[in-house]
Amino acid sequence: MHAMTVALVLAMTGILLVPANAASAESVNLYSARKEALVRPLLDAFTEASGTEVRLVTAKGGQLHQRLLAEGENSPADVLLTVDAGNLWRAAEAGLLRAVNSAYLDATVPATYRDPDGRWYGLSLRARAVVYATERVSGTDLADHLDGYLELADPVWRGRVAVRSSNSIYNQSLIAAVIANYGPEVAERWAHGLVENFARPPSGGDRDQIRAVVSGEADLSIVNSYYYAVLLGSNEADWMAGTAIYFPADAQMGAHVNVSGAGVTRHAPHPDAALALIEFLASPEAQSLYAELNHEFPVHPDVAPSGVVAEWGSITTDDIPVVQFGRLNPDAVRIADRAGWN
Ligand code: FE
Repeated sequence: MHAMTVALVLAMTGILLVPANAASAESVNLYSARKEALVRPLLDAFTEASGTEVRLVTAKGGQLHQRLLAEGENSPADVLLTVDAGNLWRAAEAGLLRAVNSAYLDATVPATYRDPDGRWYGLSLRARAVVYATERVSGTDLADHLDGYLELADPVWRGRVAVRSSNSIYNQSLIAAVIANYGPEVAERWAHGLVENFARPPSGGDRDQIRAVVSGEADLSIVNSYYYAVLLGSNEADWMAGTAIYFPADAQMGAHVNVSGAGVTRHAPHPDAALALIEFLASPEAQSLYAELNHEFPVHPDVAPSGVVAEWGSITTDDIPVVQFGRLNPDAVRIADRAGWN
């Protein structure tokens, strides 16, 4: 007897009419590449609203990916939460996520910020911006030499740009977006010109690039927007008085926007609770919390950003669907390698 037949017989006898997860629906297991301090308040709010406990496992995105692969169908994970559409795309490509049907998510998360096949949804937005030294980069410099990202390769910025390694998925996705907007030849020339403009060999994370601008090692840095907002709210705020943020945009490409997001795992033991958690994370309540905690832009169109972020005003954003960052990732990595962006 085939498994299918067994299931049919059980269904006919009514045994399968009991929700499969009834015994354990009181909890859901979350694998999170985001730190506990950031996600815990959201999970507590979910538990309060639903009665469902969340068991949290946090690790680096790559480690969670490997763990899901190794655990296979025995994985206790219900939801994978990670940053960057490139990482979400990789997880989906590796078969780690399942397609879901959610009228709420489809109505709430703009199509640009989710997987067309429903395997992951963006839950917060971040722009890859330029933080610069206002004393060394004048308004005229900006107006004349920095509209879109392409001009970061302008020789006027020779030896003045700080950016982390191209090992970072943040930079791989930015390069992918440049490919998607301008084509591979332009992207390749741009990457070479940008490397020429480096103030120093790439090192450290995004915060360290901002610190390089503050210390005078660089005049411009390429960083995710929330790092700047977080530092402005930290004990480093005074130190950053001579800096400002700029969102590159030209006629072709607006500010590069990426996502953090989540998907229900392929072998989720509690798929209904998993989807309920993701839907909650997209809800106005969770979106407000998220915005205040990490200064990302809400993905929910009706939720306001944090006060600091609101001060930046409206931003012209790139409209390339973020799934393209995953699809073009191999091309982006090759371009970065050939350009010597280590
Ligand atoms: Fe980050």
